[in-house]
Amino acid sequence: MSRNTSENKQKGQAADSSWYEKGLRHIWLPYAQMKLASPPLAVTASRGSHIVLADGRELIDGIASWWTACHGYNHPHIRAAVERQLAQMPHIMFGGMVHEQALTLAKRLVEILGRTGLDRVFFSESGSVAVEVALKMAVQYWVNRGRPGRSRIVAFAGGYHGDTTGAMAVSDPQESMHAAFRGLLPQQLIVDLPVDEASASAFEAVLARHASDIAAIIVEPLVQGAGGMRFHDTEVLRTLRAAADRYQLLLIFDEIFTGFGRTGSLFALQAAGVVPDIVTLSKALTGGTLPLAATIANQKIFEAFWSDDPAKALMHGPTYMANALGCAAANASLDLFEREPRLDQVARISRLLKEGLEPCRKFSRVKNVRVMGAIGVVELDRIENLNELRQRFIAKGVFVRPFGSIVYLTPAFTITEEELAKLTDAVRAVVAELPPG
Ligand SMILES: *Cc1c(COP(=O)(O)O)cnc(C)c1O
Repeated sequence: MSRNTSENKQKGQAADSSWYEKGLRHIWLPYAQMKLASPPLAVTASRGSHIVLADGRELIDGIASWWTACHGYNHPHIRAAVERQLAQMPHIMFGGMVHEQALTLAKRLVEILGRTGLDRVFFSESGSVAVEVALKMAVQYWVNRGRPGRSRIVAFAGGYHGDTTGAMAVSDPQESMHAAFRGLLPQQLIVDLPVDEASASAFEAVLARHASDIAAIIVEPLVQGAGGMRFHDTEVLRTLRAAADRYQLLLIFDEIFTGFGRTGSLFALQAAGVVPDIVTLSKALTGGTLPLAATIANQKIFEAFWSDDPAKALMHGPTYMANALGCAAANASLDLFEREPRLDQVARISRLLKEGLEPCRKFSRVKNVRVMGAIGVVELDRIENLNELRQRFIAKGVFVRPFGSIVYLTPAFTITEEELAKLTDAVRAVVAELPPG
């Protein structure tokens, strides 16, 4: 890799970009109609809140690589930790073996979750898989307890839990395009979040009717992210916990987006003062450097699997689970949360996002402006051409990636005031330029 780079440097800039044309025809991009999508940006480097493109341009990053790079790119502390681990042992299978980085990380995750009783950590390599593991834990919990009929999951409209089939089945049917996969997906119970009296009684009715078939309720606490950056208040989570207790259901918090400070507290469950039975973490877990995820269960769940009967074991084991490089990155990321004032930075970003985005309300196409923690959202009546809108941001020197009908910012917590102002200026300018609806 480094040899190629220096060879290419000697040949000059032109040779540098041949990989783009040669490889692009063999690549299948995510969430993209390949026929219509704009050509993807060729990125050669990243640092802090900057993305460096092959043609020499630099973009200010508004998304932190799908919310992962909370300390900015290439943080020297994480890089050093990964380099040390790379020299020692990049990976070792986790079947029958453990290593220091994984066990240290498990203990630290349990500690920073606070007094929740969530204390058994199962590692995997992506958020979707962490959700699959949570669902399997919940369903098998009831099998192991002698109640095998409890296998359905209650989930919420507007929710997103990943792209694998189990996770898709508990995500919003529209966003996940369930229609295309009918027959593949298990039919789960998708209801509205209990945010008011009408939705609360509808939710209650579903539980009353199906309780004996239900294993668990799964929710993204405080913010439904990829489903539309919709916020709800802590009361909703207390309603869910109370209902789960009343009907003896398990409660799963998917904190893959909300975890590690994004909403303003380290974890959404802490802001809400509500403790689930299982929590899933990923995205910012490694500070945006390596793929890693965790499913963390409480003692009650773990005890249902603790048995002399081998059939009661949790039968799951991703090949790259607890990858040592990923765990080293995650430990280094936790160091940074301990040493550096991340939550203060999030509070400051929150103020600046409010100041910078509130003025968008005066534009006719804007339906709503909302900010929670380091998440700023401008919701439009609709977006006709996402491709075109995305290109306008790039032309303004920022990377912002609208979806659905929203334009949003989720910057790194280390972003400077000046960089953040460039992002909010760009959002205001692009929204102002929209043709009237
Ligand atoms: C991103 C996300 C997932 C899926 O994570 P992947 O690593 O993309 O598989 C699941 N749940 C939530 C809340 C997410 O934001």
